[in-house]
Amino acid sequence: MTSKDVETFAQMAERIVGEDGVSRDPRRLLAASRDRYELSPLLTETLPVTTADVVVWPRAARQVADLASAAYDCHLPLTPRGKGTGNYGQAVPLRSGIVLDTSRMNVVTEVGDGWAATQSGARILAVERAARATGQELALMPSTVGSTIGGFIAGGSGGAGSIEHGWTWDGFLMSASVAPCTSPSDTKNFSAEETRPFAHAYGTTGVITDVTVKLVPARDRVALFASLPDMESAAGVGHEIMTSAVPPRLLSVDSRGISTILAPSQEGVREDLVSLRILVTPDQIGWVSSLITGAGGAVEMTQERGDASVLALAFNHVTERVLKDVDGYCHLQVSGSGLPTAQARAAGDLPGLMTHLDGFRIEDHPKFVGIIFHPYDGRASIERAKQVLADHDVRVNDPHVWQLQKNVDIYRGTAQLMDPRSLMNPGKLPPEAA
Ligand code: FAD
Repeated sequence: MTSKDVETFAQMAERIVGEDGVSRDPRRLLAASRDRYELSPLLTETLPVTTADVVVWPRAARQVADLASAAYDCHLPLTPRGKGTGNYGQAVPLRSGIVLDTSRMNVVTEVGDGWAATQSGARILAVERAARATGQELALMPSTVGSTIGGFIAGGSGGAGSIEHGWTWDGFLMSASVAPCTSPSDTKNFSAEETRPFAHAYGTTGVITDVTVKLVPARDRVALFASLPDMESAAGVGHEIMTSAVPPRLLSVDSRGISTILAPSQEGVREDLVSLRILVTPDQIGWVSSLITGAGGAVEMTQERGDASVLALAFNHVTERVLKDVDGYCHLQVSGSGLPTAQARAAGDLPGLMTHLDGFRIEDHPKFVGIIFHPYDGRASIERAKQVLADHDVRVNDPHVWQLQKNVDIYRGTAQLMDPRSLMNPGKLPPEAA
């Protein structure tokens, strides 16, 4: 890649998206080249970040395809970007080149019965609002509601709604139009069964320009905050609620250590008690409350239309809160049969352990995924924590690595067709084993 290639591309891009759709301003290049990887102390030390040479803002699929074709002709790396809220460095260019920012492709094109068709840069909240106007809601949404639907699909995995609807690749993504990095390039349309290579692919298999995603009938919900004496009782009550006929949109549990961090600024969370937070329907409150008191707990607060307050304490939002408050810690994203009771069983081997649980549908059953917080002292402390947790049947999905870890063969096979020069978000697909 030479500066002449960059100059040639920038001129081609201006003809495609206009002058205001291209920038080489250093501040804008830097802003477009970072995401939330600083949540990981290890990525902060090791992610080989670079800064884009040029940022482009297309408004439509045709422009994306023309830009991808120009990137191919100029042999320039191309990193797609939504809102940059990913936290594994997914949207960070590792070989400079082009960042293709989708934020101006933000139109919710149509809402039907059970689906919404949108451009990939549409914000999650905008799609949810359009759905609600028809008495529906997104089947899934990340706790980062300001992010984009394309970024959620390409870089995320689930969130609110996952107790009932699982992962983003479990039927949420109903179709996708994707621009390959070839020359010429034209968006290709993929049906639900064909979309797996674009979900959680970090943009390595093409630029998603438009999607159709699953909507479900909207339900009124109340946020219920409760306290329980220990993780086992909270997880037991939580599991019973998750297996009910109308699963909650969200259910989270925090161990005492996290509750003590949250309590001073969070109504409904008690210091030194386990916190259980659920988004339930109004007619479930009586039953849920009796389960909680029956397990030795107490309902601390209920809040009508409380989605936002429970979302703000789910998934990696808790990571943000804990790491802001406690120095020298890091997080591991976890799942496995041992997770609900890990806090009591593993704390002896991992002093300072704290556990956050979120409800999720895995292999068609409601289970828990979660985030384990432990003292951090470099990569070795992470490896040691992984070993301790493995001994307690807790699997780690390592959030301190920037390369794709699962389904790599699926992504690699599609990338060969959609990105023959390996220009799409280079460095995120692990190299083929020699
Ligand atoms: P970006 O970060 O901009 O991009 C993410 C990835 O997708 C990058 O690899 C990028 O190259 C690629 N990409 C973006 N747009 C396109 C496109 N149009 N075509 C192809 N590739 C594209 N994630 C969850 O799944 N659930 C959660 O509940 C959740 N909670 C979070 C909480 C916090 C506090 C933080 C920091 C992160 C959280 N995340 C969560 C991760 C992330 O915020 C979400 O996945 C978010 O939806 C990503 O959207 P984005 O627009 O910010 O994407």
